[in-house]
Amino acid sequence: MPPSSSRSTSPARPRPKDRGAEAGSAAEKPFWKEKPLDALTPAEWESLCDGCGRCCLVKLEDEDSGEIHFTDIACKLLDAQKCRCSDYARRRRRVHDCIKLTPATVRSLTWLPPSCAYRLIAEGRDLAWWHPLVSGSASSVHEAGVSVQGRVAASETQVELEDYPDYIVTWPGKAPPQAKPKTRREKTPTGPANKRQPVRG
Ligand code: SF4
Ligand code: SF4
Repeated sequence: MPPSSSRSTSPARPRPKDRGAEAGSAAEKPFWKEKPLDALTPAEWESLCDGCGRCCLVKLEDEDSGEIHFTDIACKLLDAQKCRCSDYARRRRRVHDCIKLTPATVRSLTWLPPSCAYRLIAEGRDLAWWHPLVSGSASSVHEAGVSVQGRVAASETQVELEDYPDYIVTWPGKAPPQAKPKTRREKTPTGPANKRQPVRG
């Protein structure tokens, strides 16, 4: 069956002032180790995004099986070099199916990348060494091979919908070995039924 399309959203990029303010002193645990997603301040929430851009790739949902497949096609607003939304403030006005991430959507979306900081925290895990909040550098997510930098094949504006299946890839749903996070406490990942439709974010 032909794929249908939808997409999801990524939060704003981490801001240095947020990282410094929220990381905490040596005597305090950083906020992401102390608070559940629902208790984060807006600044903490936004700073949690690692800037990988994986969620802004178009995904395909199989209309029969519901299975979701990543593609390496980027949302039209994704800056493939910076791996950031080029118009974050107006993204949902410009991209109608860009999904706003909330604690509830994080828990319900089945396709969030395993490296996604929101997914990790929702599952009771810790952030990895390459997360900007841990490393102190926005470039570490690229250096670790976690971001989409250099891996986007095309923008959605360049590909016909019927050709989307030709761009299906598996890497966005996998964590690079060098980027594996530490386990804080194990939980069984909640995996609702797979879908199959283009999703980005
Ligand atoms: S996958 Fe998660 S951490 Fe990466 S850009 Fe999207 S929301 Fe941010
Ligand atoms: S790049 Fe696209 S999918 Fe990602 S936040 Fe912006 S509008 Fe949403």
